[in-house]
Amino acid sequence: MKVSGLTAALLLGATGALASATPKVGKVSYDGYKAYRIATSGKDAAAIKDKLASFAAVQFNFDTQEHLDVAIAPEEVSAFEALSLPTTIMSEDLGAEIATEGNFGVYEKNVSTSAAVPSLTWFDAYHAYADHITFFNDLAASFPQNSEIFTVGSSFQGRSIFGIHLWGSGGKGSKPAVYFHGTVHAREWITAKVVEYITYKLLVDYSTDTAVKAILDKYDFYILPFVNPDGFVYTQSTNRLWRKNRQTRSGASCVGTDVNRNWPYKWELTGGASTNPCDETYKGAAAGDTPENKALTNFTLSLANSKGIKLYIDWHSYGQYILTPYGYNCQARPANQARQNALAQGLANKIREKYGTRFTYGPACSTLYATTGDSTDYITDVAKAEFAWTIELRPGGSSSGNNGFVLPAAQILPSSVEQWEGMKYLLANV
Ligand SMILES: [Zn+2]
Repeated sequence: MKVSGLTAALLLGATGALASATPKVGKVSYDGYKAYRIATSGKDAAAIKDKLASFAAVQFNFDTQEHLDVAIAPEEVSAFEALSLPTTIMSEDLGAEIATEGNFGVYEKNVSTSAAVPSLTWFDAYHAYADHITFFNDLAASFPQNSEIFTVGSSFQGRSIFGIHLWGSGGKGSKPAVYFHGTVHAREWITAKVVEYITYKLLVDYSTDTAVKAILDKYDFYILPFVNPDGFVYTQSTNRLWRKNRQTRSGASCVGTDVNRNWPYKWELTGGASTNPCDETYKGAAAGDTPENKALTNFTLSLANSKGIKLYIDWHSYGQYILTPYGYNCQARPANQARQNALAQGLANKIREKYGTRFTYGPACSTLYATTGDSTDYITDVAKAEFAWTIELRPGGSSSGNNGFVLPAAQILPSSVEQWEGMKYLLANV
């Protein structure tokens, strides 16, 4: 990310404005906030950020070479529009969309099966954190021959960082690992739903679909839907657009570290994270100094040291990207670069086949922006995974109704189905 100084100004501005807004009970209000995508054309990005420095703007993205996505407080909309920047509207009223999204579904089981499998209505709406835990517990209880819940440690506030382990006919822990992380950035809600769908399909279709059976018989899956549970709970209780964990630090007035800038590999490099605790990409005071990262690092190494990691995916939103290594350096490439590229291209093609959704693929730094201390670089070079990718889910383009992190519930199922089709391709070919 290339914007750190200004990001601080934007965020401090946002904090001031949010404090003066009229919140709902216990919640930061985005009522009347309008979200815009500003075309930056590369060279204009810095000048546009300067113009926005005095605004109470909430910045969504850090890859600002092509566009800068921001939410503007209602009292500043007219001043913002007077700037006559080249914009498209992402959201007419972010608060209204958050309210609609917040009509959570009721957790239901599928009454047509004897096992207590969750109902597919799970993918029609977003749900409370407690229901996500029930979803996984019920899935594991329904398929005890192929799955179990595990934990890797605790978050800063003491929540379990849990996952589900899936295996096939070789028995538990007998195969190389396919390893997923979801929701490291708390506001990226669609990521948990997508990994839940993939988990659901692997277990439910195992006995009836030979292609699925072949996949689960070949790999052990370790799927962690919420590696930043404190942040996720905070997005549901208090601030829908929170990104980092909820770690406090002595001497810092701002809360939270970006767990995906805190991995102990290339952490010390500059230009791919922030050293300011108030920034969204704050890297921490030392490499690996978040409780979440300590737990995840230990678990990652345990997988690497047992059967090895075949494929790791860190699920994020938004932008519709498949990002291969590396983040820390735009010239560096892994030894198997040609294969990385061919498989990412194949995955993008397979995703597009279903509903026409276009994903851009390529090395993370040169395709999107530089990141240091990120999971995929660590898991590639330290944990020696054959493939370690970031997938940025929907939405993508700049059309109106592109709501950034607040993806309409009607897109949960299609987002999940297109990724499932992609994963079946990838896991059969990787
Ligand atoms: Zn993210």
